[in-house]
Amino acid sequence: MPPSNMTIDGARLLGDLYRLREFGTFKTGVHRPTFSEVDMQSRHWLMERMREAGLEPEIDGIGNVIGRGRGDGPRLLLGSHLETQNEAGWLDGALGVMYGLEVARALGGGIDVVAWADEEGHYGSFLGSRSGIGLLTEADIDAASNRYHGKSLRAALKEAGLANRPRFTVDGNSYRGYLEAHIEQGDALEAAGLKIGVVTSIVGIWQYRVNFAGVQNHAGTTRMAIRKDAGVALVKFATEVERLFPTLCGPRSVWTVGRITLDPGAASIVPGGAEMLLQFRDADMAVLKRLEATLEDITARANKSGPCAVTLTNLSRSIPSVMDASFQAALDRAAERHAPGLHQRMPSGAGHDAQWLARVMPAAMLFVPSIGGISHHWSENTADEDIVLGAQVLAEAAADILAR
Ligand SMILES: [Zn+2]
Repeated sequence: MPPSNMTIDGARLLGDLYRLREFGTFKTGVHRPTFSEVDMQSRHWLMERMREAGLEPEIDGIGNVIGRGRGDGPRLLLGSHLETQNEAGWLDGALGVMYGLEVARALGGGIDVVAWADEEGHYGSFLGSRSGIGLLTEADIDAASNRYHGKSLRAALKEAGLANRPRFTVDGNSYRGYLEAHIEQGDALEAAGLKIGVVTSIVGIWQYRVNFAGVQNHAGTTRMAIRKDAGVALVKFATEVERLFPTLCGPRSVWTVGRITLDPGAASIVPGGAEMLLQFRDADMAVLKRLEATLEDITARANKSGPCAVTLTNLSRSIPSVMDASFQAALDRAAERHAPGLHQRMPSGAGHDAQWLARVMPAAMLFVPSIGGISHHWSENTADEDIVLGAQVLAEAAADILAR
């Protein structure tokens, strides 16, 4: 690639990020839930910044904001999301959107910038990016409500002034591809002393509910030999998962029992019912299938040996998403130029909008280090010089891809 002399304006980028943090400041982080007043203010503020940068901004009926560059040469779409988890960090999502804007300013053309609505899932799962690739139906919108306070998505869209706006979809053929920068949200880069992560794939997340049906009874008078204790059945099941998964997983598999409930849940009652929510993540379909087969096997053996009935229900299976090889190479080259030897390829253990965009166009992601690996918490942070470095690498990779 011809080494470009294009440089991003680090002070301008940081100034925009600091300004964006003022929409919903919480300690050193941000509280900016989807479609809250501050969230909508931040979307309109972004549209102003886009206009200043020579982009044509539009906000659509699901809250997605896109700024389209003028001209009709080859184009790239860059972006991420603006809303945050509750009382969370100032960079999760915001970084990728403001990088997009800064790259658009630095390159002067060929870049469209997007902020996908509700990546953080206050009302659903990736509503904005799914809408943007045509996978979100009106019925999906009718059915969605806020997971914290229950407000319907329709009511929230109406209050946000978005009720009657059309929704846009991006045409994969009109873009060379999609680039999303994000904080790592883990400590792999920091622990290795590295500055840039080039994402190889985004993990698939498979989730399950496991139900245990026993018999509720008196905890003082029911002999151990005749109990059908659903809580004990649950603990045995979880122990089998912990025993078998390490022998079958991939090098980066993770699994979590995130919630356990016992029914009725009292000190002096043998639980008649129990339930656990379990999820695992991996970038390799074969590993995901192997772990699911293991759950089915544990369930079958538990039902055979008794005394409680076990029911395994799959709740969701997302497909691992492979990032574009030539985009990864462009990011590698740009990283090597600006941070020689300080970059690595790595999978993403968290879900991102890029996994949906990858269905309609080539997509890739760049990570910058998270201090202490902390994210989804107000103390989330990245060093200013790392923020600026990441933007420079992204800009140069984008220029490289557009110059082909
Ligand atoms: Zn995010």
